[in-house]
Amino acid sequence: STQEQTPQICVVGSGPAGFYTAQHLLKHHPRAHVDIYEKQLVPFGLVRFGVAPDHPEVKNVINTFTQTAHSDRCAFHGNVVVGRDVTVQELRDAYHAVVLSYGAEDHRGLEIPGEELPGVLSARAFVGWYNGLPENRKLAPDLSCDTAVVLGQGNVALDVARILLTPPEYLEKTDITAAALGALRQSQVKTVWIVGRRGPLQVAFTIKVPRPRKRLMELLLRAAMEKPGVAEAARRASASRAWGLRFFRSPQQVLPSPDGRRAAGIRLAVTRLEGVGEAARAVPTGDVEDLPCGLVLSSIGYKSCPIDPSVPFDPKLGVIPNVEGRVVDVPGLYCSGWVKRGPTGVITTTMTDSFATGHILLQDLIAGLLPSGPRPGYAAIKALLGSRGVWPVSFSDWEKLDAEEVSRGQGAGKPREKLLDPQEMLWLLGH
Ligand code: FAD
Repeated sequence: STQEQTPQICVVGSGPAGFYTAQHLLKHHPRAHVDIYEKQLVPFGLVRFGVAPDHPEVKNVINTFTQTAHSDRCAFHGNVVVGRDVTVQELRDAYHAVVLSYGAEDHRGLEIPGEELPGVLSARAFVGWYNGLPENRKLAPDLSCDTAVVLGQGNVALDVARILLTPPEYLEKTDITAAALGALRQSQVKTVWIVGRRGPLQVAFTIKVPRPRKRLMELLLRAAMEKPGVAEAARRASASRAWGLRFFRSPQQVLPSPDGRRAAGIRLAVTRLEGVGEAARAVPTGDVEDLPCGLVLSSIGYKSCPIDPSVPFDPKLGVIPNVEGRVVDVPGLYCSGWVKRGPTGVITTTMTDSFATGHILLQDLIAGLLPSGPRPGYAAIKALLGSRGVWPVSFSDWEKLDAEEVSRGQGAGKPREKLLDPQEMLWLLGH
C-alpha cells in the first residue's frame, strides 16, 4: 500500500504556504518525499518579495524554511512555472498528491476612469520594485511629486506609505534594492494620504496584541484626540514629511494633468456606512472631494489567478474551491495558503492553514484515498522539463545566489543586495 512505500507529494509554490505544508508532511510521515516547485529562481515567496525591508525580524521564518529544504526527503525546483512548463495533470500523474500553494500573484484593479494614467501604480508592483521582484525591477516610479495617495487601508497600504516617508538613511542597512534606495533619496514626496471607503472601525490593519480591534481604536483615538506635549508639538511642526488617514472616501476617478498625460489628482466620493459592524457597507452620499496628488498607489488587495484549465477556480472569491484544503471534485489535489483562503492574513495564519491541509492530506493517505502503487515523482517531471528546455534550479543553487547577494551587500553594510535579473542569476549558476 501507499503507506509502506514512499508517498511522492509535490507542492506548487515556495512561499510560507508551500514550506509550512512541506514541513508538516515531512514531520508527520516518516517516509513521505516532498518536491517543491517554484516559478521564481529563488524561494520564499512574499517573505522575500512582500515583507517590508524594514521588518527584517519577520523574515526569520526563512531559517525554518531552510531547515525544511535541507531535509533529505525534500527538494526545491525553482525556475519552473506550473501551468506553463508543466501541467497540473502531469504533476498529478507523477505524484500521489499535489498541493497548490501558489499564492496571489495579481492585484485587484480600481476599475475607475484614469486608472491607466502614468502616476497610477498598484501597491503590489511598488512593493515588488523595492523588494527586487524581477518583473518589477524596471518600474521606476516617478517620485517627483509632493503628494501621494494610497487607496486602501490594510497592512500593505501602511508598508507602502511608511517606505515612502521613511528617511532613506533608515533604509540604508536593510535589504531594499539599491535602485529603490536611490529613487527614494531623490523623492520629493512629502505627504501621503491613506484613503479608505469605510471608517476607522473597518480598517484592515492588524496589530499583534490581544483584542486587537479595541486596542487599535484606542491607538487611533489617542493619536487623533490627544493634545501633543510641547516637545512632540515642536517635533511635528518641524517634520518635513506627513501622513494621514482619510476615512469614508471611495475613489471615483483619477484626474489627469492639464495636458492629459499623467495623474494629477484623485476624485473621491464621500461615503457613509449602511449596516453595522464588519458587514457595514460604504455608500456614496453624493458629495465628492478632489485631492491633488502626483502618485496614486492602489492597495485594495492581491488576487489569485487560475493556474491551469484542469483546476477548478472561483473567480468571484479568487480562490480554488476547496473543503478543508481538498480541492473539490479532484481527488489527490489540495491547496493551502492565500490561494486556499484568499489574500488576507499574516504568516502565522498561513502556517496554521497549511498545517491543516497537510493534516488532511495525510489522513486521506492513511485512509487509502490516494492512488496506490509507486509513482515516479521528480524523475518523470525532470525528463519532461528537460525535453521542454526548462532548467530547474535546486536549493543549493539558491544557496550560491544567496551567498552572492550577501557578499554584494557587505560593502554597503546591508544584509544582502538582491539579484534582480534572472539572466544574470542563471549565468552565475553556470547556465
Ligand atoms: P506567497 O508568499 O505569495 O507564495 C506563493 C509562491 O508561489 C510564490 O513564491 C510564487 O512565486 C509561487 N508561484 C506562483 N505561481 C506559480 C506557478 N504557476 N508555478 C510555480 N510557482 C508559483 N505577513 C506577516 O506575517 N508579516 C508581514 O510583515 C507581512 N508583510 C506583508 C507585506 C506584503 C506587501 C504582503 C503582500 C503580504 C505580507 N504578509 C505579511 C502576509 C504574508 O506574506 C502572507 O500571509 C503569505 O506570504 C502567504 O503565503 P502563500 O505561500 O500563500 O503565498
